Amino acid sequence: MAKTEPSAGKQHISEEPITLGNWYQHVNWINTTLILIVPVGGIVAAFYTQLRALTAAWALLYYFWTGLGVTAGYHRLWAHRSYEAGLPIRIFLACVGGGAVQGSIRWWSSKHRAHHRWTDTVKDPYSVMKGLWYSHFMWMVLNQNPKTKGRTDISDLNEDPVVVWQHKNYGSVILFFGMLFPMLVAGLGWGDWKGGLVYAGILRFSFVQQATFCVNSLAHWLGEQPFDDRNSPRDHVVTALITLGEGYHNFHHEVRRFFSLAFTSHSLNPNKFPSDYRNAIEWWQYDPTKWSIWVWKQLGLASNLKQFRANEIEKGRVQQLQKKLDQKRSKLDWGVPLDQLPVVDWDDFIAESQSGKALVAIAGVIHDVSKFITEHPGGKTLISSAIGKDATAMFNGGVYTHSNAAHNLLSSMRVGVIRGGGEVEIWRHQNSQKGLYT
Ligand SMILES: [Zn+2]
Ligand SMILES: [Zn+2]
Repeated sequence: MAKTEPSAGKQHISEEPITLGNWYQHVNWINTTLILIVPVGGIVAAFYTQLRALTAAWALLYYFWTGLGVTAGYHRLWAHRSYEAGLPIRIFLACVGGGAVQGSIRWWSSKHRAHHRWTDTVKDPYSVMKGLWYSHFMWMVLNQNPKTKGRTDISDLNEDPVVVWQHKNYGSVILFFGMLFPMLVAGLGWGDWKGGLVYAGILRFSFVQQATFCVNSLAHWLGEQPFDDRNSPRDHVVTALITLGEGYHNFHHEVRRFFSLAFTSHSLNPNKFPSDYRNAIEWWQYDPTKWSIWVWKQLGLASNLKQFRANEIEKGRVQQLQKKLDQKRSKLDWGVPLDQLPVVDWDDFIAESQSGKALVAIAGVIHDVSKFITEHPGGKTLISSAIGKDATAMFNGGVYTHSNAAHNLLSSMRVGVIRGGGEVEIWRHQNSQKGLYT
């Protein structure tokens, strides 16, 4: 929306604390009018305006179109270059996207590219690290410090005449597609001029604005992180439902990173590493933006739909699962690691067992089973008979095949490692020395 340029040598207002005397200078009044004052005016007007069924249906349909202008147009086409669209679709998306009243394509995409490039840092224009409300809309209500602006390359956008036209005529575009057009349809169609303006115009674009803002706030705060948890983006069906499928945000951020790595480019130009045209990769996930793009392709209106390789996506998911598993694993007692246990000679093991200690050797490891003898599910006699012996065969199925749980429990009783590995090893070692066994 409104730009804030640095004034040379002077401290920017955002660097000063907000006081009673200067708060109005902190406010970006153009943005505030468009995302707060007019919407609140719309809510008030709704109390004095009857909602007719046809107008409600039109408002809903136009909500979908203008939402699509942002999700399929602003976001996936222009900010991320995840597919190519012919002139008719570009014009349609630039018009209805303008009707969503959230800035020009050029302004929106440049901010969004910075958001992906500097997620969660000071250069992220709507970093959730500054708070949920900040990432939702306060970043537009308050004037931003131009010194922390994350620079992005938008040269590709400047070459698109549709983008340039929309940016130059942005005021007329939001006035017409944000309010006049929805009013004209309801007015000329079924005589509801006022309802058309209030419901299909103002309230409808206010809802689209809030839905988009939710991708920047809620989608970085609520939900699962199946692909990567190093940054804030998350997947949640609620965010997807209100944003025409943009809620699978953990995948969206991550796949974009995959692409940038795959293209091994650190350029700011997203032409070199576009994104996936899908936000939801499973067929059953709600992503009407993806379905629309796919339909346009079938009609010959869109082409070159980018998809990251399923195998690579799955790798990311598995790595994150492994990370979670490792975190769980590290919280449990798995017994003293083998390399930290004292090394004991076989003879010493026998001697200690005979002197009353309940030691059992299994697979070269000595276990102190004294506290476990009475609890042994297989009975006291059986476990007692193994004391002072190598019970590897017994434990591993000679008598009874022990479960994973038994193996884990056993590991918590480790007290030492037998030098050379065990009874058989010692026997081999001694006999080879005597030359009886080679
Ligand atoms: Zn994005
Ligand atoms: Zn994000």
